Amino acid sequence: MKALVYEAPGKGKIMEIPKPVCGDDDVIIKIKACGICKWSELAHNSTGTTLAKYPCTPGHEFAGVIEEKGKNVTGFEIGDAVTADNATNCGDCYYCRNDQSLYCENFASIGHNIQGGFAEYVKVKKDKVFKIPPNLSFDEATVAEPVACAVHCMDVLAAKPGEKILVLGVGPHGLILGQLCHHSSALKAVTIGGLDSKLDILKECGVPVIKMDRNDYSVHEEAIKKEFPHGVDAIIDTTGYWPLVQSAFKFLKKGGRFIQYGSYHSNDDFVIPPSWFNNIHYNEQQYIGVSCQTFCFDRALEYMGSGKVKVDKFITHKFNLDDYFEALEVNRTDREAIKVIINP
Ligand SMILES: [Zn+2]
Ligand SMILES: [Zn+2]
Repeated sequence: MKALVYEAPGKGKIMEIPKPVCGDDDVIIKIKACGICKWSELAHNSTGTTLAKYPCTPGHEFAGVIEEKGKNVTGFEIGDAVTADNATNCGDCYYCRNDQSLYCENFASIGHNIQGGFAEYVKVKKDKVFKIPPNLSFDEATVAEPVACAVHCMDVLAAKPGEKILVLGVGPHGLILGQLCHHSSALKAVTIGGLDSKLDILKECGVPVIKMDRNDYSVHEEAIKKEFPHGVDAIIDTTGYWPLVQSAFKFLKKGGRFIQYGSYHSNDDFVIPPSWFNNIHYNEQQYIGVSCQTFCFDRALEYMGSGKVKVDKFITHKFNLDDYFEALEVNRTDREAIKVIINP
């Protein structure tokens, strides 16, 4: 079968490899669509991802139809439209035995250290396979993975009635979290972003937005002050952009919580003065890290199927597998790109 293979970080090509062999507990999915997860796929194409084992076929956001199933697989039929949870925990380490599967010491992920979805077929364990709600296309269903990560973020956020929330950023994760927070028990959740085309997607979903002014932060800071004169109870940052984080932190109430959901980029060099941490200390605020997910796929797909999380407008570009590197470059350079999908 045809697949994207990285022999080593940065050394990827489309090539022929053997089709995976179906074991008793496996299904083989014929891939219809696989989404580019921008920062992961760019990492494979440069320094490598921290989890990856090379040679590696990336792609952890995929959907397709069941082509083969093992003899122990029940509840699924050949031809079912499915997606799969990429995250795998061992079930046996210190954290797994303490019901903290996300911190598994042997954490594995399809598309990093298990063969991924930028290929014609992928093999998945039966307990990781999920049926796609009938109203979602294969392209839309690829977004289940980022939605699942956002569902985990919502678990950590645990929004209380009456709370006010700011979401920073309008990449795929900001667009998902903006919708999820809007539908949460919070009183008001506003999403901040710089691109009109992406803010419009949220507006169409009824999600309140504030346009970020890249050149003059005082413009959107005034708008935030007007919207939330007493500040906000929680901020979720999906950007990993320190100047924006610094700016937004001014609006975090005493006792508020800040969730770092997006990664800071390694080439952004900044020094945080001790006074910044002292403010967190004096104001009894919390700085919380959130990263990926385990066991959130079912809820993610239900949110998408219900229409509470709409992702149809996310699909901005489509390519076939042979044009993978062109697709990756478009995702890297085109600021209007949200989800770039590969249809093998
Ligand atoms: Zn992803
Ligand atoms: Zn484990």
